[in-house]
Amino acid sequence: MLMPNLNYAQLKDSYLFAHISKRIASYLKEHPGTRLLRMGIGDVSLPLCDEVIRALHSAVEDQAHAETFHGYMPECGAPFLREAIADHYGKRKIQLSPDEVFVSSGASDELGDILDLFESRSVVQVLEPAYPAYVDANTMAGRTILHLNSGEDNGFLPEPDESVRPDLIYLCSPNNPTGAVFNRDQLQRWIDYANAIGAVLLFDAAYEAFIEDPTCPRSIFELSGARTCAIEICSLSKTAGFTGTRLGYTVIPRELNRYGMNLNQMWVRNRTTKTNGVSYIIQKGASAVFTERGQQQIQANLSYYKENAGILMKALDELGIRYYGGKNAPYIWLRCPGNKTSWDFFEELLENIQVIGTPGAGFGACGEGYFRLSSFASRDDTQEASKRLLAYFSGQTSGAK
Ligand code: PLP
Repeated sequence: MLMPNLNYAQLKDSYLFAHISKRIASYLKEHPGTRLLRMGIGDVSLPLCDEVIRALHSAVEDQAHAETFHGYMPECGAPFLREAIADHYGKRKIQLSPDEVFVSSGASDELGDILDLFESRSVVQVLEPAYPAYVDANTMAGRTILHLNSGEDNGFLPEPDESVRPDLIYLCSPNNPTGAVFNRDQLQRWIDYANAIGAVLLFDAAYEAFIEDPTCPRSIFELSGARTCAIEICSLSKTAGFTGTRLGYTVIPRELNRYGMNLNQMWVRNRTTKTNGVSYIIQKGASAVFTERGQQQIQANLSYYKENAGILMKALDELGIRYYGGKNAPYIWLRCPGNKTSWDFFEELLENIQVIGTPGAGFGACGEGYFRLSSFASRDDTQEASKRLLAYFSGQTSGAK
């Protein structure tokens, strides 16, 4: 009889966001027509910027004519896009060769696929609270997972734990869900630790574009020693509204070797076997993000989300609800008032003010008692959500701080 991958039996019953969607569907069935304010899931609300749309249209037109038509694309990415991304790093004084940049269909795909580079006996460390895909992807692969908890005592930015020896370590900065961002010294300590023990850091930089504070690195390759221990996984999803268009990129430095094997070359071998490249049209659209006008236009969208974060933070400040993040990050991580569990708080907001957030418990055990709000909703919804929060909690939250 066929033996399925029994590791799937170890997964939690459903992916966090699937569970939330199910609950919302059942609520709407009971309360048809209700205006729900979705401040939970991290999807964006603004459309792609003009520069990207123009590039996409022109690429579609290219596909209509034999002289400009493109078939299969190079598996690791079109040279024009790999060069544009390497140049983009160059402008921030990070020297990359285009062949260190791999174009992907998004960070989620890549975070799962990249695990092919590491054998199933490797031990993985996840800094929690964390994006749930890290744990789930490694559970599917049957790896041992070490959970490194963080909390208010360390500002949700844990230091390396010298008592353990992981092979693979996930870092996410700005963090989903807490919005915490490593400064240079903190990140340097992780790099030094990884180099000392021979671990590889998987640096998830999906939200790097939100960083304004110059003391916080937007790329791990701003720091010394990263080229021998880090892989950086990036996405245009939140940076440029590509959640439905799909494009990401991954940086694997040439110097990244383990046991005499070169991870950059291994990834070339993997991609040439397992993919036929990302669509020409989408790569053309993505390359527009890295032009001067593209950068200006995406900055306008990022500012809009940052203002949304400001609106939510103002409401929480007025209510005296303690929170983290919101600055240099699109997420606000709040302490559930009245010491409620995060799912109880989810239900309370859904039932009373129809505001949807994300329960912290879905991001690891140490997320219990916290709740994630996102700044990616429309301005209208964000304003309405903060109005409802203010009206509902005014007078209830003394002592929540
Ligand atoms: N990494 C983190 C931390 C995320 O929060 C997300 C999406 O929300 C992703 C990766 C996935 O990004 P993508 O849309 O590129 O798959």
